[in-house]
Amino acid sequence: MSKRILVYFLLMLPFISMAQKKDKHAKNIAATITVDDMKKHLYIIAGPEMEGRNTPSEGLNKAADYIESQFKAMGLAPGNNGSYRQYYNLYKDSMIGSTMNINGVTMELNKDFQPQASNYAAEMRFSEAVFAGYGISEPGNRDDYKDLDVAGKLVIIADGSPSDFKSELRGFASPTSSFGKINAAMNKGAAGLLIIYNNFPRSEMRVNNNWGLNSFRPTQMPLTFNISENVIAKIMGEDGKNIFSKLKEGTLASKTYSVEIEIGFAKQTQTTTASNVIGIVEGTDLKDEYVFITSHYDHLGKRGDVIYYGADDDGSGTTGVLEMAEAFAKAKEMGKGPRRTMVFMTVSGEEKGLWGSAYYANHPIYPLDKTTVDLNIDMIGRTDSSRHYGDTLNYIYVVGDDKISSDLKVISEQANKLYAKLELDYKFNDPNDRNRIYFRSDHYNFAAKGVPIIFYYDGMLKADYHKPTDTPDKINYPLMVKRTQLVFYTAWEMANRNEMLKRDMKLEIPKR
Ligand SMILES: [Zn+2]
Repeated sequence: MSKRILVYFLLMLPFISMAQKKDKHAKNIAATITVDDMKKHLYIIAGPEMEGRNTPSEGLNKAADYIESQFKAMGLAPGNNGSYRQYYNLYKDSMIGSTMNINGVTMELNKDFQPQASNYAAEMRFSEAVFAGYGISEPGNRDDYKDLDVAGKLVIIADGSPSDFKSELRGFASPTSSFGKINAAMNKGAAGLLIIYNNFPRSEMRVNNNWGLNSFRPTQMPLTFNISENVIAKIMGEDGKNIFSKLKEGTLASKTYSVEIEIGFAKQTQTTTASNVIGIVEGTDLKDEYVFITSHYDHLGKRGDVIYYGADDDGSGTTGVLEMAEAFAKAKEMGKGPRRTMVFMTVSGEEKGLWGSAYYANHPIYPLDKTTVDLNIDMIGRTDSSRHYGDTLNYIYVVGDDKISSDLKVISEQANKLYAKLELDYKFNDPNDRNRIYFRSDHYNFAAKGVPIIFYYDGMLKADYHKPTDTPDKINYPLMVKRTQLVFYTAWEMANRNEMLKRDMKLEIPKR
C-alpha cells in the first residue's frame, strides 16, 4: 500500500469508524421528539406557576418537581444513588448589628461608617492603625504596602488611585477596585480594614447579602468598613484633614497612628437548598461510561410582580433534555438502548453563576474521566436577529467542538450531514469573541475538568433576552425540534461508538 494511500487512510479513519449511513433506529426514535410534546413541556416550565424559577425559590422547586415527575413517567432511573435530586446548600448572611468606637466615642452606623455585607461576625479592639495610602498592590506595578508590616493589624486606606496609575486588570480584578484592595489587604495579613470615601455614604447600606454557594472559603477577608472623612480625622488628626487632596499631591506618607478603635459586626446566616435534577438511561456493555445531556432549569424569577418566564432561557433546553430522555428511554424499551449510560441533568443556579453545574463538577456522581462528553443546551428556541447571512431559520451556533477532543467536530458534523441538515455556525468559537460564550454556561464546569463538551445556542441576545417578554408563544417550535434532534443524533453516536472520545487537545483559557 503506497505511503500516500496509507496517509489518506489514516486521515479518514475517524470518518470510516463512524456510521456512514443512516441508522434507521435512530431515525425512528428521533421522530418521537415532537412539536406538541415540546409545547406541552415548555408552557408548563415557563408558565406563571413557576414564577420565573429563581434560585432559590418555591417556583424553582415546583419546576424541579415537574422535571422529576416527567423523568419518572418516562421510565428513567434516579441519577443520584436512588434519588433524582442532587441538593446543594445556599447561604445568605444578614447583618443584625454593627458598631465602631474611636477613643471611646461612638460612631453612627450609616452616617459615619458602613460595614461590608460580606463581613463575618466579630468584635475587635485595636490600639493602633496603619495608614497605607490608596492600598494598591499589583506585583511589578505598584505596592502601597512596601516596607509596611500589617499582619494582624488594622489598616486604613483611601478609595481611588493616583491620576497616573495604570493597570491592565479591569473590574473585580482591578487593583484599584474595592474588591482588589480588600484582597491586597488580606494578602498582606491585615485583620481589619477601613476604607475612606469622600461624599460618604455613597450608597444605601446593604444589610442582606445575596444567596451564595460558598459559605466555606480557604481564606477570610479582613473585617472591612467604609468610613467617612470625619471619621478619619478622629484617627489621624491633622493628617486626616483634606486627606484626598493631600493624597493627590502625594504629600501624605504611610504611618502608624496610636488610637483605641473598637469595631464590631453581627450577622445571622440563613441556609436553604437548591437541586440539580438527574435521571439516567442505563447503558449495556459500556454502561460504566457516560454521556451527559444538560440544561439549566432556573431563570431570573420575579421583579416585584413581574415574572421573567425564561421560555428560551433555558426553558427550551430543559424541554430538549426531557424529550431526549424520553427518546432514549423508548429506545431502551425497544431493545435499542444506548451502550453507554445516558445521564440527563437539568441544573439550577446557572443565572447566579453556574452554581448547580459547579457543585456537580466538584461533587461528581459519575467519574469525570469516564464521562465521555457533556452536550449542553442553553437557548435553542429562537433566532438571532443580528444574524443576516445564511438560512436564518435553519441554523444553530455550535460552541466548543474545537476544544479538548478532535473527535467532537467530526461526529457533530457527520450527525448533522446525515440527519439534521442545519447550518452549523461556529461564530462563537472565535477565541477573540467578546461575548466569551464558552465560559458562560454550564458546560464550562465540565470542560474545566477536562471533559469534552459541545454547547448548542441560538444567540437570541437582543429581542427578549433576560426580559419578561421571553415567553413560550415566541418560540419557533419546529426549529427547536430540529435542533434537539441534532443533539439527539450526536448523543446517539457518542453513546454507541466503540471508543470514548479522545482527549487530545489542551483547553486554552484566553486572558480576560
Ligand atoms: Zn441560560
